[in-house]
Amino acid sequence: MIKKALLLAADSKRLERIIGRSRLTKPLVSRYVAGTTLDEAVAATRELNAKGIDVSLDLLGETVSDLRESADATAAYVDTMHALATGSPDSTVSVKLSQLGIGLDPVVCVGHLKQLLDVGAESGISVEVDMEHSSVGPQTLEAFRSQLPSHPNTRVAIQAAMRRTPEDLCSFSDVKPRIRLVKGAFLETIDKAIVDPAEVTAQYQHLAGWALQNLPDPAFGTHDDSCVELVKATAARLGISKRDFEFQMLYGVRRELQEQLAADGYRVRVYVPFGSRWYPYLMRRMAERPANLMLFLRSVVGD
Ligand SMILES: Cc1cc2nc3c(=O)[nH]c(=O)nc-3n(C[C@H](O)[C@H](O)[C@H](O)COP(=O)(O)OP(=O)(O)OC[C@H]3O[C@@H](n4cnc5c(N)ncnc54)[C@H](O)[C@@H]3O)c2cc1C
Repeated sequence: MIKKALLLAADSKRLERIIGRSRLTKPLVSRYVAGTTLDEAVAATRELNAKGIDVSLDLLGETVSDLRESADATAAYVDTMHALATGSPDSTVSVKLSQLGIGLDPVVCVGHLKQLLDVGAESGISVEVDMEHSSVGPQTLEAFRSQLPSHPNTRVAIQAAMRRTPEDLCSFSDVKPRIRLVKGAFLETIDKAIVDPAEVTAQYQHLAGWALQNLPDPAFGTHDDSCVELVKATAARLGISKRDFEFQMLYGVRRELQEQLAADGYRVRVYVPFGSRWYPYLMRRMAERPANLMLFLRSVVGD
């Protein structure tokens, strides 16, 4: 119930205007967001790199309302990739196609994506495509698929909760894509997604085992101990090296686990969001952990 309310609130432009301006939320925002500027994101990247952890930088912002915004976001990503290429060459960037304009003009959006992939090929910084709400899911997968022949290193997020995911994965039998397996963070209806948390975890674990056996260099985007342990045990049983897959976690979430995995020799990548459009991202993080809600409400209304 609380989770649903928070996910609904994540899409409210009105609440974004009110809460986004409140300075009281700053401490909470800074737990999950590296800063508003590229310089701050690069500083967070350096700190994580010093601990043996790679990053994927995410420029906050989604569902643009005009194509100029999507061009601006693309240009900002180009700057980000150039900044990473010099100081942190094992980094990636994570892009949301709604930010690149998929809801306005899919052709323009794919053009932006291609531009980023071309810059990535020159600079050595790979691109990961986030998976958003099911209203743009199929187009996102199509856009990703269209770029695979020229940019096979691109990674796409796959949501375990979505009922169509096994079918989507089978549709890639000709090309084995690099994926980031996640549970799924969006509010979906029961016909489209598994909603029971235990069932989502079981499906995640099933797909994680399948990905380890069938896909190149899979990434496991999770903070769930049971999923992390399942991945570690399955890889060990199959004789897969700790360097042939990676764990991915969000900035500010389970930092000790991130560092422990890296110290144990696993590849770890932290998803580092930056920028001023933090509101929907933060609301989804609250929805994942309603225990944070009181903290959030206190920060909005003040103590
Ligand atoms: C690197 C990365 C990229 C992602 N990309 C996408 C994407 O493209 N599309 C998409 O739909 N979703 C994405 N997600 C979000 C994902 O779908 C889940 O919503 C999120 O990871 C929570 O699921 P979990 O596997 O961590 O398990 P959960 O069962 O939700 O959490 C396990 C434990 O992790 C901790 N935890 C989890 N979330 C939080 C939080 N917000 N604050 C504090 N502690 C927390 C808690 O201790 C919790 O008990 C991404 C997640 C990660 C890690």
